[in-house]
Amino acid sequence: MSEILVLVDHADGAARKPALELLTLARRLGTPSAVLLGAGDTAPSIAATLVEHGAEKVYCADASEFADYLVVPKVDALEQIAQRASPAAVLVTSSAEGKEIAARLALRLDSGLITDAVDVEAGESGPLTTQSAFAATYSVRSTVTRGTPVITVKPNAATPEPTAAAGTLEEVAIAFSPAATGTSVVSRAPRQVSNRPDLTEAAVVVSGGRGVGSAESFAVIEALADSLGAAVGASRAAVDAGWYPHSSQVGQTGKTVSPQLYLANGISGAIQHRAGMQTSKTIVAVNKDAEAPIFDLADFGVVGDLFDVLPQLTAEAEARKG
Ligand code: FAD
Repeated sequence: MSEILVLVDHADGAARKPALELLTLARRLGTPSAVLLGAGDTAPSIAATLVEHGAEKVYCADASEFADYLVVPKVDALEQIAQRASPAAVLVTSSAEGKEIAARLALRLDSGLITDAVDVEAGESGPLTTQSAFAATYSVRSTVTRGTPVITVKPNAATPEPTAAAGTLEEVAIAFSPAATGTSVVSRAPRQVSNRPDLTEAAVVVSGGRGVGSAESFAVIEALADSLGAAVGASRAAVDAGWYPHSSQVGQTGKTVSPQLYLANGISGAIQHRAGMQTSKTIVAVNKDAEAPIFDLADFGVVGDLFDVLPQLTAEAEARKG
């Protein structure tokens, strides 16, 4: 079976969950090979996790260029590994960086590119992807017809499934192009520490909208989120009112999330909000207006005051944790 290259997204010495999801999806298409770039001393432990999740081979390249410059060094590396391995497809996480890497790689390989897939399976003539479009009213299935398919996949498209793999480690030396050092990183600042999962990667997202009423009242959203191990999201109305930071905004001009479970509380369901959460697997809405458009999209709905409903839900979730 042909190799399927998976670009590994990693941070703080660990593979991020979407990378493990890609390895699971890659098994449907061929033999998964992980591409681990710039992991330094943490490479062996990250590689061990990748092998536990099905990487038959781990291509490992380390150089200061990966950290000191923006995306091009990673594109150089992926291109050179792809030329060597002749893979049947390259899978990359659908983050802003991932999509830029994928686009540049597809151009260099003279290949077709599919972005923001929510599912990937083996098709008759190569990987068959599913994309969700126009507020989830359309499901688009596509296949690349030219070159090596380069596909970016949204987080939460699959559940990572551990499996034993050979996990041959292959060190690769990369010859960087002159363009690699074109944009350098001048500083890095750590993100504000939160015990909650990253919004775009979380399996569960609990969001609040204008119905929450104030910054202080977001405590009721946070309490439910923490009882479920969820990330907190917000509608633009809540963000514009200054109740929650813009980094938590879900929607057309905020983050796109695709969790297993999305709970929308005091959110009407405007099209611009839907644009950021419509591909969530299960949507639950709590709204005191039975006519709110969010109920058209929701799998489960509660017509009620969120200040009555959410504390009960939180208490029930806490009780079930035992
Ligand atoms: P509202 O529409 O005011 O809805 C509040 C809801 O809360 C109502 O349905 C009400 O019944 C309910 N409610 C009130 N009190 C309670 C209570 N106690 N218990 C239960 N329910 C209650 N919006 C986004 O969210 N994300 C975006 O990225 C985004 N981008 C935009 C880009 C553009 C170009 C434009 C024009 C708009 C954008 N918007 C975006 C704004 C969007 O159109 C809506 O205005 C916004 O989503 C409304 O937020 P909301 O649902 O919280 O507020």
